Amino acid sequence: MEMTEHVETLRQKLNQYGYEYYVLDRPSVPDAEYDRLMNELIQIETDYPELRSPDSPTQRVGGAPLDAFVKVTHDTPMLSLGNVFSKDDLIEWVERIEKDLGYAPLFVAELKFDGLAVSLKYEDGRLKRGATRGDGTTGEDITQNLKTIRTIPLRLNEDVTFEVRGEAYMPKRSFEHLNDERERLGEPLFANPRNAAAGSLRQLDSKIAASRNLAFFAYGLVSNDELVASHDESLEYLKRLGIAVSGEYTTCRTADELWDYIEMYVTKRSELPYEIDGIVIKVAAYEEQEQLGFTAKSPRWAVAYKFPAEEVVTTIEDVDFSVGRTGKVTPRARFAPVAVAGSTVTYATLHNEDFIKEKDLRINDRVVIKKAGDVIPAVVSALVSERTGNEAEIVFPTRCPACESELVRLDGEADHRCVNPECPAQLLEGLIHFVSRPAMNIDGLGEKVITQLHAAGLVHNVADLYVLEREALLDLERMGETSVTNLLAAIEQSKQNSLERVLFALGIRLVGQKAASLIAERFETMDAIMDASVEALIEIDGIGTKMAESIVLYFEKPEARELVRELDTAGVNLTFKGVKRPVAADAPLAGKTVVLTGKLYEMTRGEAGKRLELLGASVTGSVSKNTDLLVAGEKAGSKLSKAEALGVEVWDESKLLAFLAEHV
Ligand code: NAD
Repeated sequence: MEMTEHVETLRQKLNQYGYEYYVLDRPSVPDAEYDRLMNELIQIETDYPELRSPDSPTQRVGGAPLDAFVKVTHDTPMLSLGNVFSKDDLIEWVERIEKDLGYAPLFVAELKFDGLAVSLKYEDGRLKRGATRGDGTTGEDITQNLKTIRTIPLRLNEDVTFEVRGEAYMPKRSFEHLNDERERLGEPLFANPRNAAAGSLRQLDSKIAASRNLAFFAYGLVSNDELVASHDESLEYLKRLGIAVSGEYTTCRTADELWDYIEMYVTKRSELPYEIDGIVIKVAAYEEQEQLGFTAKSPRWAVAYKFPAEEVVTTIEDVDFSVGRTGKVTPRARFAPVAVAGSTVTYATLHNEDFIKEKDLRINDRVVIKKAGDVIPAVVSALVSERTGNEAEIVFPTRCPACESELVRLDGEADHRCVNPECPAQLLEGLIHFVSRPAMNIDGLGEKVITQLHAAGLVHNVADLYVLEREALLDLERMGETSVTNLLAAIEQSKQNSLERVLFALGIRLVGQKAASLIAERFETMDAIMDASVEALIEIDGIGTKMAESIVLYFEKPEARELVRELDTAGVNLTFKGVKRPVAADAPLAGKTVVLTGKLYEMTRGEAGKRLELLGASVTGSVSKNTDLLVAGEKAGSKLSKAEALGVEVWDESKLLAFLAEHV
């Protein structure tokens, strides 16, 4: 009884998803979820034959044709394809074919274009009718729409009569262009090029299809042994007739050769100008195809290898909160482990409270996840329709999970922060960052050892690292003579780092490695940076107001200045050692100190500064008696009046441009 109910639920779900996908062209779940449920149902129907039913989604192809179109009956049904998802599945499939035939046949491997199947009927070389697959037996007559596709010839090179099958698809560029346009117009976006292609071809107004830049690849003739004897021959024949056939297909004898072809396209697929979702493998000879036959839903002589899914569904089992080195509290979802694009995913960041609210996420929710940029797992959406009532709200903590102090959320900020400067979680994260490779790069001080030192109460802040004592270290677990000697040497060595490393290592909010380098190069000493104004900082190309404000805010805190003093006392170098760009002595602006202010129209101040630096100038942020030249754009303010008061030479933008033009 229970199993019958389960089967019924699976069928209902699959029917609904199928309807959304095939009829509405608007899927509500990722393909991987549909495939997972379908495979589960197939498995149950195999194990419990009494539960089979002719109207099960496992026995049916596609969806019902839309009533708005004239219906077309396919003389030869347009079927689906069986799937394999791994090399083992593929080997098994090949072995079954070899067993059925009694020998190893020739296979054709080709791309599985991600569009929609269409049938084209040519009579005496003229395109007579184009139709969708529909439910496999009855499709929709979309001839007028298909005629708008330039790669479908209306007239062939020979006056032949046959039916050709292929895939109408939307190239990646057309798809991006279409969705950009729809976004601009506030229209709903298409989920993927397949749905966009299907949606475009199932429109009554063929002008719409014409505007969508669709394309077509033929992938075979309806078996027609009067013309050719095998599938690969049919592809070459179609090409000769002027029909678009992808040149990417190949022939193979063994499962290993087929697998090599598949692997090649796992990497190559992103470079193709159209989407593919797998590789189709077909037994080449028509005679062998006939011998192998069909199931209710698909040919036995062909199979599709599906690429690993990029979007999958899993469940949020719990959410934890962690405190970063800047005090930011980050919620992280823990999932039921799931494979996405080839690796297992268990966690993803939920960023902040707004993200959770916007996506309306709850604990126990079924969620769609994907790998953003193919590496970092991200939550796309919750499957709200699948809620059972067992979901729980995700409650953002009001107190720091590490130190219990009250969290704050500043106006206009999305993040909750722990502002307790003594928060152990922040201190620990700060220490880990300080010693990391891009920061002070202290060898032998990994996360584990730092955590150990912190837990033992030996280091509270980063300056404590420089007063660590040998004896205290030797008392720690797993710390022998050699490792202590090496560790102390590495710490000592780090004192020689150039200013940009120390600046980055302090972990000031928003200050990354690159920014730290730019700032260190410009100001040269930590003292100068500590006293720099927001204005002076944003004069540097690449430093924005937010970052400048964060730096000023950081050094306004007495603890920060005290920390820098402690580092200084410990002997940590706080000056810039990097190589400055060499300036030729005869450069036109060699030895000149230039300041830029006001609005420039032909280029940004940053670019102008760079050009002037290339000509030997040293560009600084504020006007003083050492300034040789002020470039003042429009609406220049206090710097201009100061320069005038000091008698500094002032150029406007046109003078600057004339000078630059002269010295290209
Ligand atoms: P299929 O897409 O797995 O395979 C059959 C189709 O492959 C053919 O009809 C043809 O259009 C296409 N194809 C592309 N290149 C080909 C080639 N070189 N040779 C032969 N055929 C080629 O099968 P299907 O029955 O169309 O649909 C199943 C697919 O649709 C699955 O990927 C499934 O996940 C997806 N789907 C998703 C949802 C959803 O809700 N997300 C619902 C229903 C179906």
